[in-house]
Amino acid sequence: MAIHLHKGDLPEGLDLGPVVAIDTETMGLNPHRDRLCLAQLSAGDGDAHLVQFAKGQYDAPRLKALLADPARLKLFHYARFDVAVMRHYLGVVTEPIYCTKIAARLVRTYTDRFGLKDLARELIGVELSKQQQSSDWGAETLSEEQLAYAASDVLHLHKLKAKLDVLLDREGRRELAEAAFRFVPYRAALDLEGWPDVDIFSH
Ligand code: MN
Repeated sequence: MAIHLHKGDLPEGLDLGPVVAIDTETMGLNPHRDRLCLAQLSAGDGDAHLVQFAKGQYDAPRLKALLADPARLKLFHYARFDVAVMRHYLGVVTEPIYCTKIAARLVRTYTDRFGLKDLARELIGVELSKQQQSSDWGAETLSEEQLAYAASDVLHLHKLKAKLDVLLDREGRRELAEAAFRFVPYRAALDLEGWPDVDIFSH
């Protein structure tokens, strides 16, 4: 397992394969206020590629091309937030998407715990530490602990997807999941454009 830190964009010539796990770290939970600091990516091979953004510098053509590439599935846990943040800061619509949280909500109807930590423990027997979650991601130099934590958020998503795919098929909810995944870019746009806490389908 290796963690590669890149400044500003992915390196040239890096091929992350057909399914790319992605997560982001920001200064907080409000995309309009809290800037994007880091994007973590993994091909599912045990390596993580971390792209660190300096304040206001979001010219990342190789990352943007990957996010918009229709031939590469972007795999997230809670895609809604990452997709909104990347739309706001990178100006790109991420598609197509798979979200392990949506898949988990559709198949794990016996629980209300859908955090990455809960899924990793139950589905693949991996214990994740969330200790660095609330740390200062805007720091110019990220600590070893921050880099390891950031990487761990993308290193297990391929294995989780494999487990969730089996459950989606078992429960006959694949079509529903795929429709929900397709809606994520629009859900993210609604979040950014003023309907963050509103279910527009509600009565
Ligand atoms: Mn994360």
